[in-house]
Amino acid sequence: MSETDKAQTSTPGGDTIFGKIIRGEIPTNFLFKDDVCVVFNDISAQAPVHFLVVPVKPIERLATAEDGDKQILGHLLLVAKRVAADQGLDEGYRVVINDGRLGGQSVYHLHLHVLGKRQLGWPPG
Ligand code: 5GP
Repeated sequence: MSETDKAQTSTPGGDTIFGKIIRGEIPTNFLFKDDVCVVFNDISAQAPVHFLVVPVKPIERLATAEDGDKQILGHLLLVAKRVAADQGLDEGYRVVINDGRLGGQSVYHLHLHVLGKRQLGWPPG
C-alpha cells in the first residue's frame, strides 16, 4: 500500500508505530534522542537522506498542537537543523509536515520529515 493510500485509511486516535519506537518496543537506531524528541531514519526513504523528528509527547497532528506545545515545536525544528548538519546536508534540505488526510499524513503522531542529498522538486505531488 502506498503512503498516499495509507493516508486515506489512517485515522487519528490511539497509539501508533512511533509510540512503540519511542518506548523501545521496536529496536531502532536513533540519530538523536533527548527528553523531548527522537530522530530516526524513515523506513521508506524518499531521498538519500530522509529522517523523522518525532516528539515524545504524542501530539496527533499539527492541527491539534496547542499553544502550550510551542517549546516542543520550536525544539523539533532546531533538532532538525542540527541532525541535518550532522548528516552533511550543507547544500540544503526540505522539512515537511504532512497534516491530516489531504496532507497525506499516515501516522497520527506529529513528525517532521527531513529530506536531502538530492534535488527536490516543487510543487510536491
Ligand atoms: P506521514 O505519511 O504520516 O507524513 O509519514 C509517516 C512516515 O513514517 C512515512 O514516511 C513512513 O515511511 C514512515 N514509517 C512508517 N512506519 C515506520 C516504521 O515502522 N519505521 C520507520 N522508521 N518509519 C516508518
